[in-house]
Amino acid sequence: MKIERLRHLRGPNVYLSRPAVVARLRLGELTGVETSDVTGFAERLLRVLPGLAEHHCAAGAPGGFVSRLRGGTYFGHVSEHVCLELSQLIGRDVSFGRTVSAGEPGRYDLIIECPVDESPDSRLPRDLLQAAVDLVLSVIAGRTEKPVLDDLAARAEREAAGPSTRSIIAAARRRGIPVERYDDLSLLRLGWGNRRRLAWAAMTDRTSGVGIDIAGDKQVTRRLLTEAGVPMPTGGAARTVPDALAWLDRLGGPVVVKPRQGHQGRHVALQLSTPEQVERAFRAAGADVIVERQLAGRDYRVLVVAGEVVAAAERIAAHVVGDGRGTVGELVERVNADPRRGPGHSRVLTRVTLEPALLDRQGLTERSVPAAGQRVWLADTGNLSTGGTSLDVTDDVHPEVARLCLRVTALLGLDIAGIDLRLPGIGEPLPPVEIGADVTAGVIEVNAVPGLRMHLAPARGRARDVGDAIVRAMFPAGSDGRIPAVAITGTNGKTTVARMTAHLLADTGLRVGLTTTDDVRIGGRVVFRADATGPRSAQMVLGDPGVQAAVLETARGGLLNRGLGYDWTDVGVLTNITADHLGQDGLATIEDLAHVKALVAERVRDGGTLVLNADDPWVRTLVSRPRVRADRKRVVWFGLDAGQPVVVEHLARGGTAYLLEDGWVLQATGARRTSLLRVAEIPGAYGGAAPHVVANTLAAMAAARALGASQDAVARRVAEFDPAVDNAGRGTLFRLGDVSVFVDYGHNPAALAATLRTLHRLWGADRCVAALTLPGDRRDDLIAACAQVVADAVTRVVLYDDEEPRGRPPGEVPALVEREMRARRPKLFSVRAEGCRAAVTEALRLARPGDVVLVVYEKLAPVLALLSELGAVVAAEAPR
Ligand code: ATP
Ligand code: MG
Ligand code: MG
Repeated sequence: MKIERLRHLRGPNVYLSRPAVVARLRLGELTGVETSDVTGFAERLLRVLPGLAEHHCAAGAPGGFVSRLRGGTYFGHVSEHVCLELSQLIGRDVSFGRTVSAGEPGRYDLIIECPVDESPDSRLPRDLLQAAVDLVLSVIAGRTEKPVLDDLAARAEREAAGPSTRSIIAAARRRGIPVERYDDLSLLRLGWGNRRRLAWAAMTDRTSGVGIDIAGDKQVTRRLLTEAGVPMPTGGAARTVPDALAWLDRLGGPVVVKPRQGHQGRHVALQLSTPEQVERAFRAAGADVIVERQLAGRDYRVLVVAGEVVAAAERIAAHVVGDGRGTVGELVERVNADPRRGPGHSRVLTRVTLEPALLDRQGLTERSVPAAGQRVWLADTGNLSTGGTSLDVTDDVHPEVARLCLRVTALLGLDIAGIDLRLPGIGEPLPPVEIGADVTAGVIEVNAVPGLRMHLAPARGRARDVGDAIVRAMFPAGSDGRIPAVAITGTNGKTTVARMTAHLLADTGLRVGLTTTDDVRIGGRVVFRADATGPRSAQMVLGDPGVQAAVLETARGGLLNRGLGYDWTDVGVLTNITADHLGQDGLATIEDLAHVKALVAERVRDGGTLVLNADDPWVRTLVSRPRVRADRKRVVWFGLDAGQPVVVEHLARGGTAYLLEDGWVLQATGARRTSLLRVAEIPGAYGGAAPHVVANTLAAMAAARALGASQDAVARRVAEFDPAVDNAGRGTLFRLGDVSVFVDYGHNPAALAATLRTLHRLWGADRCVAALTLPGDRRDDLIAACAQVVADAVTRVVLYDDEEPRGRPPGEVPALVEREMRARRPKLFSVRAEGCRAAVTEALRLARPGDVVLVVYEKLAPVLALLSELGAVVAAEAPR
C-alpha cells in the first residue's frame, strides 16, 4: 500500500467547505483484501489506537467505524481513519474524512480535512498519512507498538497559529471577515481588496513604525514620557560601569537594571543594592542599560487598543509553592506538566525554567525542599515568556489610570500598546508628578506589539477577547472587510463573460480585479500572465489593496484540484454545462461536471445572486440541488428563449431575468420590461448571428447589475465593448483581401457548434474552410464529437497539432479527427499541416474569394502575428 500523490485543496471544494488534502492511495498487495481477512487486525488496531472506537464513520454514531472494521472494510478506508486519529493525537483538530474509489481497482482517493489555518505548503498532511499507512501495515504484520508521534506533534505545534493569532482569526471569522494566514507566520490578511488589512500579532498595518521604535528604546520612551509629565521611576541610561554605579549612588537601593532595547523580561535584574550586583547586571544586560529606582507595588499590564482600555492584568512572576515534601526541581516539573504550558509562545502559558542565581538569592537550590506554603520565585518579572501568570483586573482599573494609559499610547503614536505599570493597586488613582518629589508609582515601560496571552488565559478572573478588540480596531462594526465579488464558471464563455462583466463595472467607479484563462488584471492592466482560473489567482486579486471589486473566472481544473480561493461571493454565474473534460480527473459524465460547477453556485452567500442560463438543461437543474440553497439567494435567469418555463414561472413570481424580445435585450422583472439595447448593437454578435455571444452578453449584464451597475451604464458600456481588443481571439473577424478569417478558441463540441452555426448564418453552407487543432488531453469520444461537428459544417479542413501534446504522440489527434470526419462526411477534403503557421497558410490557400477561414488555435499570439504580417485587418461586421 502506497501514497501515489497528494494534492491540497486550499479552500471550499467539492467535498468540504474547508481545506482538505486528496491523497491517491494504491493498495497494491492489499487490493481486494478486507480487514476481516486479516486475523486479529481489528483488535490489534484498537489496542494501538483506542480512540478509533469513537469514530462515527457512515453510521453517524461512535462505534460506527469499529463495526466496519470488524465486518470488513478496505485498507484505504482504514488508513483514512487512522490518519484522522493520528492527527487528533498530535493536537491537530480535524474530523472529516472520506474514501472514494479512484475508478480503478485498488486505487482510492482519501479526502482528509486540514485545519483552516494550516499552510497549503505544509508537509504535515503527507507525513501524517504516511505514518498512518506505516501503522496499518505494521498492525497487519501482527505488531502492536504504539506510534511515536513526538516529532509530528512538535511540528504541528510549531506550524499552528499561537493563541494570540488564533484569537484574532476567531474574532474575524465570527464577523464574517475573510482571513488568510501567510504560511506558518502569525501574519494575517483580513478582508479583501481595498478593505484588506494586515495584522501581525498585536501589530496592524497602521501601527506606527516610529511608535514601535520609540517603545523599543527604553531611554527614548523615558524622555518622551517624562517630558510629558507621565510618572516614571527616576533613573536613566548607562553605557559604562561608572555611569551605572553613579546611578546607584544617586538613587540608593534597590535599583533595577535592564537592557535599553530589551523585551520579554530578558536580562532584567531587580533588587540590586550593591555595586557588585549592579555591575554584574550591567554586563549581563549587554552594557547598554537603563538603571532606575525600583518602585514598590504590584505589576500591571494595561492593553490599549484604538483609544480604549480593553484589558488589564496583574502579573505574577513565575513561582512554585512548597508542600513540605517536594524539592524545588520536582515542584517545577509539576507546574510544567500543566498542558496549558508550552515552549515559547505556542500555548497560553510558557514553561518555567530554573535560574540557579535566583534560587541562590533565596538561599535555595534545585534540591531544597521548601516548607508547605513557601513561595519560591523562579523569575524576577511577571512576563509570561518567563513563565509568569496573570490575574484579570480589567474591571478594576481606576479611570485616572485608564486615562494615563490612553495618553501614554497617544504620546508614542501607537494604535495598540501594552502599558506596564507598577502601582500599589490598579483601582487607586495615581498621584500626579510633583517637581522634586520622588515618583513612587508609575509607568515602567510601553510595549508596542504587546503579548495577548495574559488577557486570553488569566490564571484568575475573566478572559478578555482581545482578538476581537484588535479586529474592531481594524474593521468598524458592520464592516466585514469584503469587496463585491463575482465568480464565473461554465463550460464555455467564462473568459468572455468575465471580461465583459469587468468592462460593464467600469462606470461604477470601482477598480476591478479580473482573473481569466489568460491573465490577472487590475484596473485593466495585466499584472500576471498565466491561466489564472484557480484559487491562487483569485487570492492574488482578493489580496490586492488596489482592487475594489473582483471578477473571478473559476474553471473546473482549479475547482476540482485546488478548491476555491474564496469562501463566498456575492454573485455566481453559470454560463452553460456541456460535454468537455469528461474522463479527466475522475469526471465521467456531464452530471459529474455539473456537480463540480455547482460549487460556484453553492458558495454564493445568502442574499447573493445566482445568474443562470435558462436555456441550458444542466444549469436549470442547479437550483434544485440542496447544497445550492437557491431559496436563500436571488436567482436571475438569462436566456435567448423568453418562453422557457423556468423563466415564465420566475417572472410570474416577480423575479428578474435578462431576455430577448423583438430584437431587443430586455431586463424583465415581474410584468415590467425595460429595453436595454438592440441585439444588433451587441459587439461581436454579428447582428445576432452569434447567439452564444448574445447569451454571454446577457450573463455579463445580469452579473454587473447584481454587483450594482446601473441599467443605463450597463446598456451603454455593452455597446462600447470592443471584442477584437477586449476579448481577442474569441470570435474575432478579419478581412484579408476577398477572404474572411474568423479566429476562435472553441475546443469542445458545444463551442465549435456555436461558432460554426454563426459562420453558416453569415457565409452560408460550403463557404467555410477550417484550420483546426484540439487539445490532446480530451477523451477520444470528445475529440470525435468535435470532429463530427466540424464535418457537418465545413468542406475543407487543415488539421494541425497543438504545440503542447498533453499526453498524446504527435499526429494522433489529427489522425483521430480525420478518421471521424471522413466517417461522417466521406467527401470532405482534409489535409495535415505542421504547426499553426503552416495550417493557416494552407487554409488560406484553399479559400476561394468570398469564403471564410475558421482558425481554431492553441495559442493566439502566433495567429495574430501571421495575420498582421499578411496584412489582415479586423472587421466589425461580416461582408453582406
Ligand atoms: P476556457 O475553458 O478555455 O477557459 P472559456 O469558458 O473561458 O474557455 P471563452 O474563452 O470565453 O470560454 O470562449 C472560448 C470559446 O468558446 C469561444 O471562442 C467560442 O468558440 C466558445 N463560446 C463562448 N461562449 C460560448 C457560449 N455561451 N456557448 C457556446 N460556446 C461559446
Ligand atoms: Mg474549457
Ligand atoms: Mg477561459
